[in-house]
Amino acid sequence: MIPLAPASIANKFLQEASLWKPPVDPRRICALWPTLSVVTESLDKSGYLLDLGHLGGEIIIRAEDPFGRQNFTIAHELAHWILDREEKVDTKKVPRTELEQWCDAFAKELLLPGNWIRDYLRAGSVKELWYRVRKGHRHFNVSREAFRRRTGEISNTSILEVDRNNGTVEFSKQYLSRKSPPPKLRDIFRVIIGQLDSNSFVYVYTDSLNTYELMGRVVRNDGNKRSFLICLVPSSSLD
Ligand SMILES: [Zn+2]
Repeated sequence: MIPLAPASIANKFLQEASLWKPPVDPRRICALWPTLSVVTESLDKSGYLLDLGHLGGEIIIRAEDPFGRQNFTIAHELAHWILDREEKVDTKKVPRTELEQWCDAFAKELLLPGNWIRDYLRAGSVKELWYRVRKGHRHFNVSREAFRRRTGEISNTSILEVDRNNGTVEFSKQYLSRKSPPPKLRDIFRVIIGQLDSNSFVYVYTDSLNTYELMGRVVRNDGNKRSFLICLVPSSSLD
């Protein structure tokens, strides 16, 4: 058991590196330790930490990975370094799965702090929210997938990716809000199915508990296949 909360350790090092807003460059946090370096190499896996004892350490990351993915790898390996060197956790006694989960959680908290995402998404209109969701991964310098998953975890915005291919419609990805669980997907499906002929739609959906704003726009259109990005948020949270 690691008796430390990933969020508070991540927050501590953001402050030490004087990082107050996105995007977080994890290399700047690595620079807090003069003997810790980051190098890129051609690798099979995404990366690893090479502990060089009293000489320090090297975080080695895969050269072929996109920048956002590399950032996540650096943050993950940095977590191993911090647990060993700064927090003096005897990580050899921690079960492997727990250790890796802790490092992943740290990486998320470091690159995508919950309150930064909520501040970023909080905007006047659902239209503006849609654009922020669309561009969020660039704003935070992470992968699109990481940004959208995290948004579902810590905000009241749900994100759906929908493909209409000839006659069929499917939810290709879904990042449902844990804070404000949206209506059932089949109910959303009934709402959007009639909207997919237009390039953009805003819809107010009410169920027995809540009213939601739903906005969708085409993000890809190649002949028979049209892909939509859809955001769904309780109306009350747009006040
Ligand atoms: Zn690891």
